[in-house]
Amino acid sequence: MDTRLPIEFTDRMGVQLGESYDDFIRSYEQPAYRALRLNRQKVLPVDDALMCRIATGSDTCEAVGGVDGAYRYTEGSPGKSPLHAAGAYYIQEPSAMYPVTLLDIDEDVHKVLDLCAAPGGKTTQIADKMRGRGLLVANEVIPSRAKILSGNIERMGIENALVINEDPEVLSERFPLYFDRILVDAPCSGEGMFRKNPEAVDQWSPDNVKMCAKRQDFLLDCAVSMLSVGGRIVYSTCTFSPEEDEECVDRFLMRHPEFTVCAGPKKLYPHDFRGEGQFMVAFARAGGSPVPAVSPVPNSQVPGRAEYTLLCEFLAETLRKDCAIANTIRNEKDRLAGFGDSLYLLPEICPDLKGIKVLRAGLKIGTYKRGRFEPDHALSHALKKDDAKIVIDLDPQGKEALQYLSGMTVSCDASVKGICLVCAAGIPLGWGKAVGGIVKNHYPKGLRILS
Ligand code: SAM
Repeated sequence: MDTRLPIEFTDRMGVQLGESYDDFIRSYEQPAYRALRLNRQKVLPVDDALMCRIATGSDTCEAVGGVDGAYRYTEGSPGKSPLHAAGAYYIQEPSAMYPVTLLDIDEDVHKVLDLCAAPGGKTTQIADKMRGRGLLVANEVIPSRAKILSGNIERMGIENALVINEDPEVLSERFPLYFDRILVDAPCSGEGMFRKNPEAVDQWSPDNVKMCAKRQDFLLDCAVSMLSVGGRIVYSTCTFSPEEDEECVDRFLMRHPEFTVCAGPKKLYPHDFRGEGQFMVAFARAGGSPVPAVSPVPNSQVPGRAEYTLLCEFLAETLRKDCAIANTIRNEKDRLAGFGDSLYLLPEICPDLKGIKVLRAGLKIGTYKRGRFEPDHALSHALKKDDAKIVIDLDPQGKEALQYLSGMTVSCDASVKGICLVCAAGIPLGWGKAVGGIVKNHYPKGLRILS
């Protein structure tokens, strides 16, 4: 038994689990399960085995039941593969993949809020289901964590997300009855993470459990005020305490009798599921079907004619005629918004953003610099290999891919000239500029790995 587990915690778990308590405690002698979830916007099911093999260096990945593209692995360091930098997958422990499956996202779901979103495991999973359509608001209250969230959204090539750094109370005043789906993956006492993050043990106390339960009630009430009629809230924690889980559900239903439980509650324990601890439940709000999608609010930040011309020149020089993003940019000019020198393609549905702390307003396309349009790294990740006129496709297991990620030049055919999309196994890593048999490196300095 792991003696570092707090005695008040083990006492309570003994009562809670009865006969299965010994199995529960024994599970702490095993390592935490590890898994990755492939990005369906970049990887087709037919390539799953190949991607897992490249990511982990082994053939031993095993599917996580009920979650598309998710695989447990025991070997390798997929975080170090160029495919990770390319956004081919998100590393996420298996249990954490289930709450999003309760959100029931289909083509009639237009507006989704992830209220406590960083670092972005569940946001990126939601985005995969939305396939770039509608609006996904990813909010994180802690600024440093919101930046990490934003980076993960960029890496995974997500186009329809607003990344916001606000207090949930501010959002609840701003978006009454607005969203079709809301995920509240609440900050909690983290009992289910003791095996994966042993430092969570030091932060645990009965008082902290009580404080978390109060905060969870508050976050759920904020979510209620933002949910449309006929909408759904999924509530999840990675803890076992009844105050934060089952009793939180009871308190919620008492405060909000217009809601019913429509899926769950389900609790995953490390001794009866091959993953860490997780609790989840879905609440449906009675009354009719979801509010239909609304047209975007008029956008006052549309670029001027000179800037738009530079952008169109870039599109024509760099991207193919049938590139879907280039065509959206050309055909839906009112979705272009300039913030300073930066140009964004706003999500299909976009609320008024005035007065809200926005880190990312959809897809950052690029920046105007010294009379030129420079494509952003985020754009490279939202493209497909075949979208670009010049592609340099590197072997994800070869040294040139790592060379590129560390900021060095890579070689190319001497006949190739101009802005190119550098890929690994056909998945974009970033931009480069080919000249004289060399690809100059445009991979962002802040993302470069140490070689
Ligand atoms: N959903 C995330 C994922 O799948 O990657 C994990 C979210 S984590 C369980 C909870 C998040 O809530 C943390 O990022 C934390 O910073 C944030 N948080 C902390 N206090 C909060 C508060 N008072 N209101 C909203 N979010 C808060």
